Amino acid sequence: MENKTAKEKLVHMFSEVDADIAARRELDPAADDQRDIDNEMEEDYNESEEGFRTRSIVSELEKQRTQIQRALEKIEDNSYGKCDSCNTAIGPDRMLAYPESIYCLDCQAKVDAQQSRSN
Ligand SMILES: [Zn+2]
Repeated sequence: MENKTAKEKLVHMFSEVDADIAARRELDPAADDQRDIDNEMEEDYNESEEGFRTRSIVSELEKQRTQIQRALEKIEDNSYGKCDSCNTAIGPDRMLAYPESIYCLDCQAKVDAQQSRSN
C-alpha cells in the first residue's frame, strides 16, 4: 500500500474514532472531567455497569486514536511500516489489514501484555 493511500485511510480513521469518542463522552457524564460529579444521578451512573462499559470503550478508543496519530507521524518521518520497538518491517498483510499498526506482531503482543498488567 502506498503511503499516500495509507495516510488517507488513517486520516479518515482518526476523524471517525475522534467523533466516536466525542459522542460517547457526551452520553457519559462521568467521562467529562470538567463537570462536577457530586450529583447523585451521575454517581449512580459512575458505578453502574453501563458507565463502566462506556469508560472502558472510550479508553480503548483513545488508545486507538493515539496509535493512529503515531502511524501518521511515522508516515511523515518515513518509518511507516516499520516496528516502533524493534525496527523490523511489519508484514504488508498486517499493514493492509491494520494500517494503524506501529508495532510488529511480536512487539504488539508484548505491548498488549504490558497494558493488561498495568490495568
Ligand atoms: Zn517489533
